Amino acid sequence: MKINNKEWNDGAAHLLTFAIKKIWKDAELILSFSNEETFYCDFKFSNPVSQNDFKVIEKQMKKIVGGAYKLIHNGNNEIYNWELVDHINGQCDTNNSIANTNLLKNYKLLSLAGAYLNNDSSLEQVTRIHGVARANTQELNDFLNILKERKERDHRNIGKELGIFTFSPLSGKGFPIWLPNGFIVREEIKKFVTSKERKYNFTEVITPSLGSIDLYKTSGHWDHYKDDNYPIIELDKEQLMLRPMTCPHHCIIYKKSNHSYKDLPIRLSEHAKLYRYESSGSLSGLERVRAMVLTDAHIFARVDQIRDEFKHAYKLINECLEAFNIEIDYISLSLRDPEDKEKFYDDDEMWNKGEVLLEDLLKELKVNYKKMTGEAAFYGPKLDIQIKTALGREITVSTLQLDFLLPNKFELEYTNKDNVKERPVMIHRGLIGTYERFVATLLEQTKGALPLWLSPLQVQIIPVSRAESHLEYCQKIKAALKEDNIRADIDVREERLSYKMRQAQTKKIPIQLIIGDQEVESQTINYRLYQKTDSHVLNIQEFIQKMKKSINQKCPF
Ligand code: ZN
Repeated sequence: MKINNKEWNDGAAHLLTFAIKKIWKDAELILSFSNEETFYCDFKFSNPVSQNDFKVIEKQMKKIVGGAYKLIHNGNNEIYNWELVDHINGQCDTNNSIANTNLLKNYKLLSLAGAYLNNDSSLEQVTRIHGVARANTQELNDFLNILKERKERDHRNIGKELGIFTFSPLSGKGFPIWLPNGFIVREEIKKFVTSKERKYNFTEVITPSLGSIDLYKTSGHWDHYKDDNYPIIELDKEQLMLRPMTCPHHCIIYKKSNHSYKDLPIRLSEHAKLYRYESSGSLSGLERVRAMVLTDAHIFARVDQIRDEFKHAYKLINECLEAFNIEIDYISLSLRDPEDKEKFYDDDEMWNKGEVLLEDLLKELKVNYKKMTGEAAFYGPKLDIQIKTALGREITVSTLQLDFLLPNKFELEYTNKDNVKERPVMIHRGLIGTYERFVATLLEQTKGALPLWLSPLQVQIIPVSRAESHLEYCQKIKAALKEDNIRADIDVREERLSYKMRQAQTKKIPIQLIIGDQEVESQTINYRLYQKTDSHVLNIQEFIQKMKKSINQKCPF
């Protein structure tokens, strides 16, 4: 019977506990956990234990296994438990009963850190030892490589190394602070995305972060998202809350003027700061935060425009994602569950119409889609654009949601051809999701080596020496680049050339210019690209033209 990864991990957790108790008699096991990936054990020690003790622990584990450690099956051949088989006392009949493949010997301790029981900071603190076990060396090494890859792509590490963002317990958990380099990345994304939105005839608006409770009671968000919201702020008998979404504000904008059928569709976009309360245990870097900026929009349209509007917005999404080399994996078409109509807004005709329309469109677009029955929003069917991250996780990056309900709640109207009032429908559009989640995805995808147009520092100028002629020429190049909005810096530190070049690589700067006597004399530049070893010579103007082309067309240099 094949032992699966979880069982190997179970066994290693068992073995670890055994070894720990052999070394530290009064150590107490509080909790042991394992899944298909790894395992961990929470201990209470009376003496300080650190990662430096891993050697001793692993040695002890090996010693125990030397005695033989085996997975015992019960009568039905189901897994029963891992047990130490004591050869010396003959509890195990012979060595033969332990097939060599069943021996627990491919494991590794990964980390040791303080942790709270159940990740709850009000509970007691324990020492958590993390580890992994597999059936053989090959599988163990493969998994260790996956862990290494994850670490290299972890946006939290990259964000720190590249000065993109930081967090401070003093300023509040889950509230990212964007550093100068992060600001540049965001601004570049914003400039690009906004230019696309304008091309697709979206109109930008700005609405406030705080809204009156009545607004959210009218929209229904108050009842629906109660647990995700921050508590009410009371001021001068007015009750306010930090907004979790912009839809109600955009409804107010729509309602401010009279609309004829000819005015529709009206597309309002806003990159809006939103606030949602997430439990502290679920916060994770930029992926899960408590304040975020969503690339939001709302389209107010006639029923006969739904199809075209979805198509229009989908084209926009596609164009944006393509520029970031993000491939759509599939589209999830979320429908209502016809067996469970109570969960959904009650309007059969609208639902049937909307759902058929969206599916027809997906067929026309020839995109890969999956129908998800019962996954629709309360207010209507939706399309979620799903991508696979570099680490293979599936996330929703963009969304298009049809809404029959909100126009009713706000009593939105337009005048039709026959001069009769009608209700428009609303489409909620998330273009590239939130900046937070999107930047996390980009950092993971690129390991921090952002494309030239997004890179906070695009050119690192490195003088061969600190000779005045070198520095002067470097300044001249920097000024010329700045003139064309190219972000460049000179490394004037008193370090070896090779060291500076290595540092520019570590910081993942796309282009290095090496400036020495030859370049000064010929008034040229010598450049090399990130992760390339060959260098090329151009004059400054040629270089700038090549840079501008790459930046504007978002293509490789
Ligand atoms: Zn919305």
